[in-house]
Amino acid sequence: MTSTAVDVRVRGVVQGVGFRPSVFRLAREHALTGWVLNGESGVEMHLEGTALALDAFVRELKDHPPPAATIDSFDVEPATLHGFSDFTIRASSRINPPTVRVSPDLCVCADCVSELFDVFDRRAGYPYINCTNCGPRYSIIQGLPYDRAQTTMRGWELCTVCEAQYRDADDRRFHAQPIACPECGPRYSLRGADGESALPADVDPIGAAARLLTDGRIVAIKGLGGYHLACDAANAGAVGLLRARKFRKEQPFALMARDLDVARRAVHLSDEAIALLESIARPIVLARAVESLPDVAPDNCEYGVMLPYAPLHHLLFARGAPGLLVMTSANRSGEPLAYQDDDAFGRLSGIADAFLVGQRPIARRVDDSVFRIGPYGPTILRRARGYAPDAVATVPTGRPVLALGADLKNSVTLVVNGQAFMSQYVGDLEDARTLESFEATIRDLMRLYDVSWDDVLVACDAHPGYRSTSWAERLPAAVHPIQHHRAHIASVLAERQAWDTRVVGASFDGTGYGDDG
Ligand SMILES: [Zn+2]
Ligand SMILES: [Zn+2]
Repeated sequence: MTSTAVDVRVRGVVQGVGFRPSVFRLAREHALTGWVLNGESGVEMHLEGTALALDAFVRELKDHPPPAATIDSFDVEPATLHGFSDFTIRASSRINPPTVRVSPDLCVCADCVSELFDVFDRRAGYPYINCTNCGPRYSIIQGLPYDRAQTTMRGWELCTVCEAQYRDADDRRFHAQPIACPECGPRYSLRGADGESALPADVDPIGAAARLLTDGRIVAIKGLGGYHLACDAANAGAVGLLRARKFRKEQPFALMARDLDVARRAVHLSDEAIALLESIARPIVLARAVESLPDVAPDNCEYGVMLPYAPLHHLLFARGAPGLLVMTSANRSGEPLAYQDDDAFGRLSGIADAFLVGQRPIARRVDDSVFRIGPYGPTILRRARGYAPDAVATVPTGRPVLALGADLKNSVTLVVNGQAFMSQYVGDLEDARTLESFEATIRDLMRLYDVSWDDVLVACDAHPGYRSTSWAERLPAAVHPIQHHRAHIASVLAERQAWDTRVVGASFDGTGYGDDG
């Protein structure tokens, strides 16, 4: 049978979701030769084989992509036959400014959870267990394309077993960039309130943290995108103490339930809410309270609940932590979430009785996302872990655009090659540290996508008193102020891709500087 060749280019969320390994296995099944690599704008491959096999390959990849992938476009073109004798995964290419979509962080998958609790598995009880289909992504990526050398895992060299799994096309950790095990990977430790004193080496830090929580203490826990402050939600004394120490008089605390049964005892959950709670993004879902938990959410008939998403959370519950924990972002009122260890020790001293600290650095702060189920379905109230930095819309422009947002509940958006990448939730810019976080988020996105101030068009709010506006005015870039309510209408048009539609827009907002002041 005669061989032909095709080039395939797939765009979307296709890096860090097990795409190359899937392609490799599928190519082998269909006896195809050629290569696959992570390119600047997605996954690229060259395939050679019979026309029948090529067709079957393309159909199968389109119909059954890896579970965490989102495909925007899938282009197949005839190519020159080179006569490759095997199929390989090639090193990533880096030539032009990247426009690939970075995968958000993924919750630990069921396969990894069962290994976590299989005493005969080499990763039993290991809080950094992950695989090709799950684990950290955005919170560890330092550069593109997505490869271990460009993540915060680059400091840990693979042991021979991890190395073999990483290279084995039949292993479920084939090309899992954050792969690690107790022998070669990072670890957790428990430290005292000063952030320094540590436990003796033979004491299990996660079990000890679980006991502290049971005893009504407050523990700062390093997770995927930052620290949480945790305590027993049913212990009114502990919750009251956390509220007093955090200077948060009324703000509701988020809860983490050990499993769905525990969550159901705390709040009323619709099928829609359950689907969201169990989704791969594992957001916080606001739902009507069943149980009364003093001080968790004063004067509020709703609680925000989430399920465990990192292996560490599963381990904490398994080692005896109370089934319903307060898991609130680690900060004092108004400040941004703490995500770097020394900063956490400094800012949380006087709040936390102990720190459960993991060695893997967090590349950027990513809060928990928050949803409410309304009459028209789920609404996202805070877009962060599990969703950022996904593209939210396509914008008909070739020029990079940086939209700064407004001062309250800020997030920023960078448009590159017409794709609008929305940042994680930043916060209220009134606080000096949040303003620093705003600047860091912008620098981070610009660096990740290789955008310079010379090229970018900056859109800011027209309010002359906004911190984001005065920040924009100092930039060495073209700045375009936009009236607040018009920006709201424009974002609705972008969401619906209705650029050419003439509309009458009504925007109801408590704040905003008008055209006439
Ligand atoms: Zn997994
Ligand atoms: Zn290892």
